[in-house]
Amino acid sequence: MCGNPALDFAATLRARRTARFEMFATPDRLDAWYLESGIVDAVSPARPADVERATTVREAVYQLITARRRGADFDEEALAVVNDAARRAPAAPQLTHAGRWTSATQREALSTVARHAVELLSGPDVPLLKECGNPECTRISIDRSRGSRRQWCGMESCGNKIKAAAYRARRKTATVATG
Ligand SMILES: [Zn+2]
Repeated sequence: MCGNPALDFAATLRARRTARFEMFATPDRLDAWYLESGIVDAVSPARPADVERATTVREAVYQLITARRRGADFDEEALAVVNDAARRAPAAPQLTHAGRWTSATQREALSTVARHAVELLSGPDVPLLKECGNPECTRISIDRSRGSRRQWCGMESCGNKIKAAAYRARRKTATVATG
């Protein structure tokens, strides 16, 4: 999780340029994501139709982000999908004796994610959106590094994995050269 729910949501289809690993393989995985992302504290159990709706919105979000990254126009259909989700009532935080508690339906949780996408794609971070150079990752993140030259998503696991692979490759070459 990189902290922006819309970007984290788009990243639930991993390795987009290669294996395409689907995190929402079962409805309970979608429920778990809503909880882990911090969007809700409780969500009504997803049915297959909810997963289908969520993945449709996710792919539309990814398409809109990609368009912005490339300086291209938004796709009208993707816009309609995201806006339709965002138009619905979002998850409403409630104050309880124990603190904040957000319980939501699937539609409300999805609306909250879509609203995050609207904020992100209309906000100041658009020029900083970057897709990770690791083909096994393809996560989009906000590059706040100086000169905006970061190659990896900033997930510790990702940059380290690439660096370790590069190190192993160099070592192998060195071994071959000296051996
Ligand atoms: Zn990455």
